[in-house]
Amino acid sequence: MERVIIIGSGPAGLTAAIYAARANLAPLVLAGGMYGGQLMLTTEVENYPGFPQGIMGPDLMIAFREQAERFGARIENVDATSVDFSGRPLVVRTVEQEYQAKSVIVATGASARWLNIPGEEKMRGRGVSTCATCDGAFFKGKHIVVVGGGDSAMEEALFLTRFGHKVTVVHRRDTLRASKIMADRALAHSKIEFIWNTAVDSVLGDETMTGLHLRNLNDDSRFTFHADALFIAIGHDPNTEIFRGQLELDTAGYIASPDGTATNIEGVFVAGDVFDIRYKQAITAAGLGCRAAMDAEKYLEALEFPVEAIV
Ligand code: NAP
Repeated sequence: MERVIIIGSGPAGLTAAIYAARANLAPLVLAGGMYGGQLMLTTEVENYPGFPQGIMGPDLMIAFREQAERFGARIENVDATSVDFSGRPLVVRTVEQEYQAKSVIVATGASARWLNIPGEEKMRGRGVSTCATCDGAFFKGKHIVVVGGGDSAMEEALFLTRFGHKVTVVHRRDTLRASKIMADRALAHSKIEFIWNTAVDSVLGDETMTGLHLRNLNDDSRFTFHADALFIAIGHDPNTEIFRGQLELDTAGYIASPDGTATNIEGVFVAGDVFDIRYKQAITAAGLGCRAAMDAEKYLEALEFPVEAIV
């Protein structure tokens, strides 16, 4: 019987692991086949306090992991495939194993959204991607399109200028959602151009991507745009599939937390982007991970050492 299982290993899960380990709870972290969360897919993180010169996302997550392990967290690079929170003990399953736990912290984060347009799936890995750090280097000297107007899109576009001879950002409105500093950098970059008020309708190509069908949303005019790659940066969806029917979710699919990090199931806590629809920052995820671990610790203390047993 585990005292606490942490599902997920981004900033929320690994901060929860550091705090739970330092509380001598010897947490088991089911880190996922690809541990580290979204920061493993990013480049330089400039806004995580403590790193005045910035730090590469993967380096930050390796440091989180080492810190959690140093205090006794056991980290398995496996995916949780199902849970059963209907009784006691709480049950978490992977493909190979079933674990029982007194408490669980859910920190499964969010995954990149796709456009779900014709040609997108066929061209995945042949020009279409959601990860510039993973795939950008394949497009040296090419014309690259980024879709989206948020911080992710600006970050991807700026990064992709290292490879592409030109980067075109296609955005559905005429103003960016991105923070001012990121927007200003992208708007001022000589290699980046913007196409406003425009949607991507389909991806063209046979063996590899050759272009896009674009549609101007003001006058509904349609045109073909030649490009070699499309990076989709239109936000994220929470990874809550395995909790459907087990935990209360809100209408957008995020785990609902009626109070702090508690969920509707006693002993199950939540942290990070899987619950935070508003801030979604590494630092806020880490803060929530800390809170979830402290809440789990208090819960276990009351469970294992009830006041009536002490008096
Ligand atoms: P986001 O802020 O939700 O932005 C998503 C963008 O994609 C928006 O511009 C949105 O358009 C557009 N979009 C959404 N669905 C679309 C669709 N179906 N077709 C076309 N466009 C679509 O998501 P994000 O950029 O991934 O950022 C998420 C959070 O992480 C934010 O809080 C952000 O600040 C943070 N973040 C921070 C950094 C950094 O500080 N370096 C880097 C990355 C992310 P509309 O604007 O019209 O809604």
